[in-house]
Amino acid sequence: MALPDSFKTLRLDSVGRTFGATQALDNFSLEIKRGEFIAILGPSGCGKSTALNCISGLLPATSGSIWLDDKRIDTLAVEDRGFGMVFQHYALFPHMTVRANIGFGLKMRGASKEAREKRVDEAVRTVRLESQAHKLPSQLSGGQQQRVAIARAIAIDPPLVLMDEPLSNLDTKLRLEMRQEIRRIHQSLGSVTIYVTHDQDEALSLADRIVVLRDGMIRQVGTPEELYERPATLDVAEVMGFRNRLAGQNAQMVGHTDVRFSSCGVALQGVAMVPSLLGSIVAAIRPDDLVPVAKGQGLAATVEAIEYRGHDYFGLARAGDGTELFFRSTTPLTTGLSISLGTEPSKILVYPGEMP
Ligand code: ADP
Ligand code: MG
Repeated sequence: MALPDSFKTLRLDSVGRTFGATQALDNFSLEIKRGEFIAILGPSGCGKSTALNCISGLLPATSGSIWLDDKRIDTLAVEDRGFGMVFQHYALFPHMTVRANIGFGLKMRGASKEAREKRVDEAVRTVRLESQAHKLPSQLSGGQQQRVAIARAIAIDPPLVLMDEPLSNLDTKLRLEMRQEIRRIHQSLGSVTIYVTHDQDEALSLADRIVVLRDGMIRQVGTPEELYERPATLDVAEVMGFRNRLAGQNAQMVGHTDVRFSSCGVALQGVAMVPSLLGSIVAAIRPDDLVPVAKGQGLAATVEAIEYRGHDYFGLARAGDGTELFFRSTTPLTTGLSISLGTEPSKILVYPGEMP
C-alpha cells in the first residue's frame, strides 16, 4: 500500500475534528503544492496540533477528506501514510546511539541493513551531525538532539514532513540557527513541510505560505509579506503582532486607501483595511511602531511599566480612557511619566466595527 513517491498536490478538503462538544478543527481546506513550506500559525489552543495530527493520522478526522493527488489518504493508518514527524519533545531512545535512533524507523519498515546504513549516512549528513553520530542523546545539546529527531523523520524519505513547534524547547540563539537549518533541509528534500508554530517570527522567516488559524478555523492564507502587511481582519492582525488596538470614532475616508478618525481624544490617520469605512472603527498598531513623540503630537498616556531588552526598551502606557498602549523607546522612561505616543499613518491599520 505504498503512497506515490512523488506527488504534485496535497489537498485537505473540509477537514474537521471534534472532541465531544469542542470543535477543535472546523472545515479546514487547503491545497499545498510539492516543494512548499507551509506554516500553520495561531495562538495556543486554536487547533494547530489537531490539524497536523489529522494529516499524519495520529488523530482520525471526524469529517472531510485528505488527498495526495487522486489518492485518498485520511483513511490510511499512520504507518501507511509514513510521514516524517518532529515534535517539541524530541523523544529519542536514550539507550540508542544517534545512528540507531535515526535508523529505527527504517528497521521497523524492514529495510535491509545495507539500505539502512546508506540512508542513515545521508540523513546524518543532511542535518550535519557526522561528528556526533556515535554518541548517545544525553551527550548532545538540545539543538543537536532536535537535529537527530529531524534526521529520524527524514530518513524514511517521507512524502510530507510535519513539525509541531519543534523549536520551542530551545534557547533563542539555537532557535535562530535551527530555523536556517530547517529551511535548508526542506529545500534539500524538495517535498512538503508543514510547520506548526505560535511564533509569528518563525512563520514569517520559514514559510512560503502562512495559514492563520483561530478557534479551529482558517482566518487567512497568504505569503509572509501579505500577512505581515495586510492582515485581513483584526483577529489576524492580532496574531501577526498588532498588539495595540484603539477604538476610534467618526471615521471618514480620505481618498481610496486612507482614513481619518478620532481616538483617545486626538485626530489620527491610518490605512483602511476595507474599501470604505465610516463611523466606528478599531485601529491596530504594532508595539515596535509606536514610539514617544513630541508632547501634544500623539496619544497622551502615562507610563506604567518599562523593560530593557538590549537594543531598546519595551513599555506599557495607559491612555486617559484606559486603553493599554504597548510601545518601544530608545530611552528608559520612569513609570508615572506623562508622554505622547505616535507613529506614521502607514503603520496604523484600520478595521470596521467596535472594540471586541
Ligand atoms: P494548539 O495545538 O493550537 O495549541 P490543539 O489542536 O492542541 O491546539 O487543541 C485545539 C482544541 O482542541 C483545544 O480546545 C483543546 O483543548 C482541544 N483538544 C485537543 N486535543 C484534545 C483531546 N485529546 N481531548 C479533548 N480536547 C482536545
Ligand atoms: Mg499544539
